[in-house]
Amino acid sequence: SLTIGIVGLPNVGKSTLFNALTKNDVLAANYPFATIEPNVGVVGVPDPRLDTLAELFDSQRKLPATVDFVDIAGIVRGASEGEGLGNKFLANIRESDAICQVIRAFKDENVVHVDGKISPRDDIETINTELILADLQTIEKVLPRLQKEARLQKDKAAVVAAVEAAQKILEEGRTLFSAGIHNGTEQAALLRELFLLTTKPFLYVFNVDEDELVDEDFKNEQRALVAPAEAIFLNAKIESELIELDDDEALELLQSMGQDEPGLATLARVGFETLGLQTYLTAGPKEARAWTIKKGATAPEAAGVIHTDFQKGFIKAEIISFGDLIECGSVTEARAQGKARMEGKDYVMQDGDVVEFRFNV
Ligand code: GDP
Repeated sequence: SLTIGIVGLPNVGKSTLFNALTKNDVLAANYPFATIEPNVGVVGVPDPRLDTLAELFDSQRKLPATVDFVDIAGIVRGASEGEGLGNKFLANIRESDAICQVIRAFKDENVVHVDGKISPRDDIETINTELILADLQTIEKVLPRLQKEARLQKDKAAVVAAVEAAQKILEEGRTLFSAGIHNGTEQAALLRELFLLTTKPFLYVFNVDEDELVDEDFKNEQRALVAPAEAIFLNAKIESELIELDDDEALELLQSMGQDEPGLATLARVGFETLGLQTYLTAGPKEARAWTIKKGATAPEAAGVIHTDFQKGFIKAEIISFGDLIECGSVTEARAQGKARMEGKDYVMQDGDVVEFRFNV
């Protein structure tokens, strides 16, 4: 499955956040025999539709979609110089599908900042610089070979042009993602064989003081700093306390801080979006479940997420959109009202589709 790598300077609250994420691990809760890796936190994506479905179908359990967060510990500054730990740090980022930088905004004299001052802008630049330098090195290594190949193979010209354009952006000190070249775009496809780091989608977690959680001016400033990436604001310490509370107590604490959901929930949701994922839903007496697919997946591809045999033997998908199902109150009624659609193999799945697959075995 796709993963989000968590990076950041020392002492910004990464471990605090990551511990909260792993305590929230849905694997541990729902799959007691799953192997839990120490540096991976599997977090459920909150989806109130599952609660509604579970009620409607009297389901025994609810299984949300999940996002995998990987703790990429290690040195940051100087990583691109490629010595031991730096190599490992970059290799771990290379294996991630998105990069989540934790940034310190909280003020606490007892917690030393590595650069002696709190500056989200500088912290972002420090990380970006290492990733940009690593990408430039990659390009410098392969560009001469690509240019040579392009002289013999005409179709390589587009790749060379894309690589040269990328090099120019990086030399200006910009990440490719911030320049609009991210996975899923045509430009990024041309760069694919280089496995560049800065084409990965970025998102930012600002570890803030409690008063900053509700300071819209402050938050808008930070949002502007990281756009087009998403910014999430939370207090890592409070998050680690929230997961120790039961739901009612947690909600009360959140509301007292002007929040309507835990920061971890927001992070899971935004992370899921950032990875380019969406869900479809299934429900029955056993379970109500959200299944993860890539945006744009077809019905047979969606079936394949449940079981490869479902994809191979795919005949049709019976689909009722969540809103229609709730309005009708049951599958039988939805069918009677003509709200259940039979979709074939070319159907592109939509968010909120409640599905039953028909297949040959
Ligand atoms: P890491 O080096 O980025 O993993 O940072 P840690 O999670 O170890 O946090 C460094 C220190 O900052 C620890 O003493 C934490 O208790 C403290 N810390 C983390 N988050 C917060 C926060 O939101 N507010 C305050 N005041 N301290 C925090």
